[in-house]
Amino acid sequence: MQAASATSPPLAACRNLVGLGRASLAAEMADIGAEPFRARQLWHWIYHRGVTDFAAMTSLSKGFRERLMAHYELCRPIVSRTLASVDGTRKWLLRFPDGQEVETVHIPEEERGTLCVSSQVGCTLTCSFCHTGTQRLVRNLTPGEIVGQVMLARDRLGDWSGGLAPQGAPEAAGAPKEGGRLITNVVMMGMGEPLYNFEAVRDALLIVADNEGIGISKRRITLSTSGVVPNIARAGAEIGVMLAISLHAVRDELRNELVPLNRKYPIKELLDACRNYPGLTNAKRITFEYVMLKGVNDSLADAKALVKLLKGIPAKINLIPFNPWPGSRYECSEWEQIEKFSEYVFSAGYSSPVRTPRGRDILAACGQLKSATEKLSARERMALRAMAMTD
Ligand code: SAH
Ligand code: SF4
Repeated sequence: MQAASATSPPLAACRNLVGLGRASLAAEMADIGAEPFRARQLWHWIYHRGVTDFAAMTSLSKGFRERLMAHYELCRPIVSRTLASVDGTRKWLLRFPDGQEVETVHIPEEERGTLCVSSQVGCTLTCSFCHTGTQRLVRNLTPGEIVGQVMLARDRLGDWSGGLAPQGAPEAAGAPKEGGRLITNVVMMGMGEPLYNFEAVRDALLIVADNEGIGISKRRITLSTSGVVPNIARAGAEIGVMLAISLHAVRDELRNELVPLNRKYPIKELLDACRNYPGLTNAKRITFEYVMLKGVNDSLADAKALVKLLKGIPAKINLIPFNPWPGSRYECSEWEQIEKFSEYVFSAGYSSPVRTPRGRDILAACGQLKSATEKLSARERMALRAMAMTD
C-alpha cells in the first residue's frame, strides 16, 4: 500500500474542540482572531445542539465557518460494539483514536434516563469483587473523551435540543416516555476511579452541567468513588455534584480486602470526609453503595452496623446484588438474605418511594463488556426493584 501523499493533511492537523470548557474555547477563538461572542455561539452549537459539522452552524458567517473548518474538528468516540438488553439498557463499547476502549451504558426508565460514564481505561485500584480491578490502568481519559461519551449517547439516542442528531438517531426506539429527555442523569460509575482523574472529570462534568450546553444539572450528576479521601473535599468545592461512596463493608478489616484503598483511607476518615461534604441536607444526600456478597458482608449484624455507622450523615443506601464475572471469587447473596438486610435498613429509615435503581445494569458496565456480557435474569431485576433505596 502507498504511503499518504505529501499533500494530505497530517492526521492531527485539526484540534478537537469537544472537551474545551468555556474559558478554553474563548481563548481558542481569540487565537484565531474571533470576537468573544463567537465563542458563546459556538458553545451553543457544540454543546446544546450537538452539531458535529461546522457547516451546519447557520448563525455563523460563512467565512467564520470556513476558518473553523480549517483549524478544528468536533470528534466523538467511535462505537466499536453495541449491546442491547431486553429491558432497554444499551451498552456501547467506545474506541478512541489510540485504540483504547471504554464502556458507556444507557439505562432508560419511566421517569429518567441514566447514562453511566467511564473516567479511565482500566483502574489503578484492585477491588477484589470488581472486574475492572483485574485490568491494569492504561490511561486517564481526557475531558473530551468523558464529555464525548455523553455527546455520543445523545447522538445515538437522538437526544439533542432542536432535534438535531448528527448521526441520526439509530437507537431511539424503546426509549422512555415521550417528551422527556432520554438522558436526564449522569453517573460516573463506569470504568475507572473518577477521583484519580480529578481535573479531567471536573472539567468534563462542568461542561455537562452547564445550563447553556448539555444542561444536566449537578443534582442529576453523581460521582462514585471508592474513597479517595483528599479528593472528596475537592470534588465538593470544585465540582459540586452528588456523591456516591462505594462502602461495601462496615469493618476496616473486611473493607481492606474488598476495597484495598481502605488501607490508605480507612472507614473513619472516609466518613469524616462525607460528613464535611458541602451542601448535605435531607434533600441532598450521599449514596452509599453496598455490594451484596454471600457470606461475606451480608449478615444482619452487618446491616445493623451499617445503620449505626451512617448515623448523622444524610444518606441513601444502594444495595447492589453482586454481578459475577468469570473467575470472580464471590457469589451474590441469596435473595432471602438481601431481603432481610434490606428490611432492616428500611426499618431504620433508609428508604423513600421504591423505584427501579440504576443498579445492576450500571454495574454490568464496570469492565465487563470487554469480556463476557451477562444479562440480568428476571429474578434479579425484580430483586433490584424491590430493593430500591434511592429516591
Ligand atoms: N471506581 C468508582 C466508580 C466505578 S465502579 C467506584 O469504585 O466507586 C461503580 C460501582 O460498581 C462501585 O460501587 C463498585 O464498587 C461497583 N461494582 C464494581 N464491580 C461490581 C460487581 N461485579 N458487582 C456489583 N457491583 C460492582
Ligand atoms: Fe476501580 Fe471502582 Fe472497580 Fe474499585 S470498584 S477496581 S475503584 S472501578
